[in-house]
Amino acid sequence: EHISTRYQSVMREEFNVRLIERESTLRMEDLMSAKPKVCIIGSINMDLNVTTNKMPMQGETVLGDKFFTNPGGKGANQAVAAARMGADVNVIGAVGEDAFGQKLRQNLANEGIRTESIETIADVSTGTATIILSENDNRIIVAPGANNHVTPELVAKQRELIEESDIILMQLEVPMETIVSTVKIAEASDVQVILNPAPFQPLPESVLKKTAYMTPNEIELASMKEYPMYESIRQKMIVTRGGKGVTFVENGAENVIGGHCVQVTDTTGAGDTFNGALAGELAGGTNLPDAVTMANAAAALSVSKLGAQSGMPSKQDVQRFLQ
Ligand code: ATP
Repeated sequence: EHISTRYQSVMREEFNVRLIERESTLRMEDLMSAKPKVCIIGSINMDLNVTTNKMPMQGETVLGDKFFTNPGGKGANQAVAAARMGADVNVIGAVGEDAFGQKLRQNLANEGIRTESIETIADVSTGTATIILSENDNRIIVAPGANNHVTPELVAKQRELIEESDIILMQLEVPMETIVSTVKIAEASDVQVILNPAPFQPLPESVLKKTAYMTPNEIELASMKEYPMYESIRQKMIVTRGGKGVTFVENGAENVIGGHCVQVTDTTGAGDTFNGALAGELAGGTNLPDAVTMANAAAALSVSKLGAQSGMPSKQDVQRFLQ
């Protein structure tokens, strides 16, 4: 009986050691395969497009041509770009309790994006952009709907998610107070924030100071240069310049990454592709010049294809393009 008790205890010890070894191997495997974590706090919209030969005048009704919908919103678009570049992406956002909301949530899930932190808000519509397209003009009305419900309180519920992320990416299609409070949470947990200041709105000083990078296009940059403190934040600007490429400052000197010569099919979502890809690369530990190079190439590839999300490349596409 004595031997068998001792045997049992040895076996138990052996079992425990193996269990610990197995767990640590599993954890190591987890670490080795861990994708960079990008958390996006932003808008989710359904784009409602109608094409027409004639733009209606005030009070006029015209017969249009085609109608089609496609998923959009800067938050969702940038999430898709980051996911295609291989990042583990979480979106903190909101949709309405309607068919568009369900469809958009599913669309993100199909890209492997985590949608648990997207809230469904009762009695509010999902964000929409109604786009009237004619040959030489387009007119857009954005109805933010549920995107206005991406409040500081909604984000505060996801504090842990923010703390565990490698990088936070935001745009200006959710309330400014949410941007301010998210920047605070990120700063407290030492997580870098990229802010794409689009569509442009005046930014509070705390946001200008605490973000790691800002990614204006040339028009947004012109507005930002008006800030008295612009010189002190110049080093965090990564400026997208359309077909001319991107400029950014490193060690006080301005660097230029030239644009790629591509057949331009549709520039919609070029900026979103750039931002999502940049976030994915920086989250994975890529240095700034290389991350900008990858994002610039991803955005160039996207303009050669039709559609915002549908034209976004995978990381392999980008690597092959740069070879
Ligand atoms: P959009 O509003 O159309 O999404 P944006 O105004 O936010 O774009 P841009 O500066 O026009 O941003 O473009 C973003 C990036 O996309 C550029 O920095 C570049 O990398 C790429 N890009 C845009 N247009 C072209 C082009 N014609 N040829 C090659 N690359 C382009």
